[in-house]
Amino acid sequence: MTLGAEVVKVTEQSESDSYDVVVVGGGPAGLSAALTLSRARRSVLVVDGGQPRNAPAGHVHNYLGREGIPPGELLAIGRREVEGYGGRVVPGDVAGAEPTDGPDIGFVVRLAEGMSVLGRRLLVTTGLVDELPDVPGVVERWGRDVLHCPYCHGWEVRDQPIGVLATVPAGVYQALLFRQWSADVTLFLHTAPPLTAEQVEQLAARDITVVPGEVAGLEVTDDELTGVRLSSGRVVARRAVVVAPLFSARASLLARLSMEPAQLQVGGFVMGTRIEADPSGATSVRGVHVAGNVADLHAQVLTSAAAGLAAAAALNADLMAEDTGRAVAALRAGREHPAGVFSGPSEQEVCDRVLGERRHGLSQVRA
Ligand SMILES: Cc1cc2nc3c(=O)[nH]c(=O)nc-3n(C[C@H](O)[C@H](O)[C@H](O)COP(=O)(O)OP(=O)(O)OC[C@H]3O[C@@H](n4cnc5c(N)ncnc54)[C@H](O)[C@@H]3O)c2cc1C
Repeated sequence: MTLGAEVVKVTEQSESDSYDVVVVGGGPAGLSAALTLSRARRSVLVVDGGQPRNAPAGHVHNYLGREGIPPGELLAIGRREVEGYGGRVVPGDVAGAEPTDGPDIGFVVRLAEGMSVLGRRLLVTTGLVDELPDVPGVVERWGRDVLHCPYCHGWEVRDQPIGVLATVPAGVYQALLFRQWSADVTLFLHTAPPLTAEQVEQLAARDITVVPGEVAGLEVTDDELTGVRLSSGRVVARRAVVVAPLFSARASLLARLSMEPAQLQVGGFVMGTRIEADPSGATSVRGVHVAGNVADLHAQVLTSAAAGLAAAAALNADLMAEDTGRAVAALRAGREHPAGVFSGPSEQEVCDRVLGERRHGLSQVRA
């Protein structure tokens, strides 16, 4: 995926690199938030590493109005829409963020290349990493015929021989779920815990074959998955394999803000990690919001975009409250200096109250 030839480079300090909101991550959540904020006449910078989670997939499904669109195309449309309202989208990796000094909420956002920008607020939409089972062939086929999400891929593998590679108890649930799309589902017990009597009965009732023993690898012929090879050497013919990745929030950039991803457990097993937040994406650190997969491991493209919108609205309301407070402070300062708001002491006071630490920023030019 390309973001264009734009290169951000810091040369000197000025106010121009201070944004109302710096959005880290330009996937569906980040771009949706940036669109909403740009339309709210907020200055927005999106810094994007260009590695959206669904990049290996050929198409985006269940995105109403854009069903089946290639992931890169959807994001390219989103970037154009953001830029159409004055938002900036630049390529880059954010290495970290830390609070600015002074009374106002604000953040120094450091890019991996050593450059920095300032944001009054920070929105993190960095998504998650799918940590895949360590079985030969799984990484290579990921997003093509090694799958995890029935809503993303179920229709495409309907009526085909599907294997479920169980590494956690949820393998049974996945097998029962994919049975909706195909009558030929095999559950490979691999490293999952033994089945309960109830699970054995459920699987038998839905005609799901259960294969004990560890899986040694996937069989591929002419760039297509053809089977699952057990460590015994037996090969079971399959055209698609379902796995349960560990979902790990991409949130290392938040370490300087003392924010750590928290584990999410389902049925006593760790499903992954996420940054905890309220429904508007507000985190434990004032001024830092999150949206999309970094906060919600279940979020899809559409719901990530919706979460971005919700976070943007909350951030705009928060900034509005701060702007109002500053305006009131400026008004009072004017009253307290009858010589007029343009007198030296008055201007200095207003400047201090309104701009605070943001009187100096970092400048960017395009190389
Ligand atoms: C194979 C596969 C297929 C899928 N298919 C579908 C589907 O058909 N329909 C559907 O609804 N969902 C699908 N999904 C789920 C979908 O990918 C996610 O729900 C969605 O991408 C989440 O959006 P997001 O904005 O939270 O994160 P992402 O789309 O992952 O975007 C995060 C962005 O942040 C950037 N980033 C990360 N860290 C940094 C950093 N430090 N600095 C700067 N940028 C950073 C990344 O490079 C990336 O561009 C699929 C997932 C997979 C794995």
